[in-house]
Amino acid sequence: MATQNILLLPGDGIGPEVMAEVRRVLAVIEARGVLSLSIDEGLVGGAAYDAHGVAVSDGDVEKAKAADAVLLGAVGGPKWDGVPYEHRPEAGLLRLRKDLELFANLRPAICYPALADSSALKRELVDGLDLMIVRELTGGVYFGEPKEITDLPNGQKRAVDTQVYETYEIERIAKVAFELARVRGGRVTSAEKRNVMKSGLLWNQVVTAIHKSGGYEDVKLDHMLADALGMQLVRAPKEFDVIVTDNLFGDILSDVASMLTGSLGMLPSASLGAEDENGRRKSLYEPVHGSAPDIAGKGIANPLAMIASLAMALKYSLGKPDVADLLDKAISETLGEGLRTGDIWSEGMTKVGTTEMGSAVAKKFEALLGA
Ligand code: NAD
Repeated sequence: MATQNILLLPGDGIGPEVMAEVRRVLAVIEARGVLSLSIDEGLVGGAAYDAHGVAVSDGDVEKAKAADAVLLGAVGGPKWDGVPYEHRPEAGLLRLRKDLELFANLRPAICYPALADSSALKRELVDGLDLMIVRELTGGVYFGEPKEITDLPNGQKRAVDTQVYETYEIERIAKVAFELARVRGGRVTSAEKRNVMKSGLLWNQVVTAIHKSGGYEDVKLDHMLADALGMQLVRAPKEFDVIVTDNLFGDILSDVASMLTGSLGMLPSASLGAEDENGRRKSLYEPVHGSAPDIAGKGIANPLAMIASLAMALKYSLGKPDVADLLDKAISETLGEGLRTGDIWSEGMTKVGTTEMGSAVAKKFEALLGA
């Protein structure tokens, strides 16, 4: 069995606490001979700044490039509010995304039946929800030039951001969406604003073209205006399978979708790069939540988003989709037994801490592996 290289970057705040629970699950994976793993650990965010004076060291970036999968906890916290802008904790995350060319951000919104009552929407709208937002992560208006604020002769100021996409950027993200849809529900909805934006028009044309020329016609493709899709996401979210959209709309729509599921502590994500000649992609897996300084060090953080990020790594980078399904099942069954961290707790449920929740999932996962 080939050894897979995993790099753990726990980061700051609750990052190390939730990463410890990932280590527990990885220990089960190794002990049961599911995978042969070489696990390394590095620093990112404030932790890296304290040790090296930068938000991620060159050495750890190189390790991340060489890894089969990188798992990151979270970065940031008030301790580093005053550090120079280029060394702020988030800069470590941005550098990793940029240097690893992680252009595709996958954010699933899954509503576990046991948590359907925690959603802002009615149970029947979200129970069993399982959609995936594929957001373009390295282009669009967050990166386009010019990007500036200039002084006008009349004493006012003028701010410009530039929304820009080239064909190849749209093609590669559309391909990721079509390939994902094939192993999910077979449907892609592409969202843009072709009615008012040239970049939206090109987005629509390129997605349509690659659907035909790329041999993806077995996948059903629909187009929606991004604002209409926003409405539909809160009206009938279960209508969607895979949604593909640009950086800006994806940022907003994925946050909306995340609230359908109840809690930030439940949401994993994956960021993927292009496939190399061996079919291998650079990849980074992390929970959607931040470093939660308000609860850091108290042992009460919900580790499920971090563990579900490992499940995504097993599915998309480590070649073990069946094991990933068992890990997701272990999470679902643990919730089904009434275990809850404080963020998802409700009357009648058993309140547990980070370690108890992680141990319960690891134990259930181990039992499922044996079944
Ligand atoms: P946050 O996600 O850290 O916390 C928001 C709220 O959700 C807090 O009340 C927190 O206690 C709670 N929460 C988050 N994750 C939880 C978990 N796993 N279990 C239980 N409760 C949880 O967002 P924030 O408070 O806006 O930001 C805090 C710091 O994190 C800031 O420095 C911010 O820049 C950083 N941040 C980092 C990332 C990242 O690393 N990807 C993402 C968002 C924010």
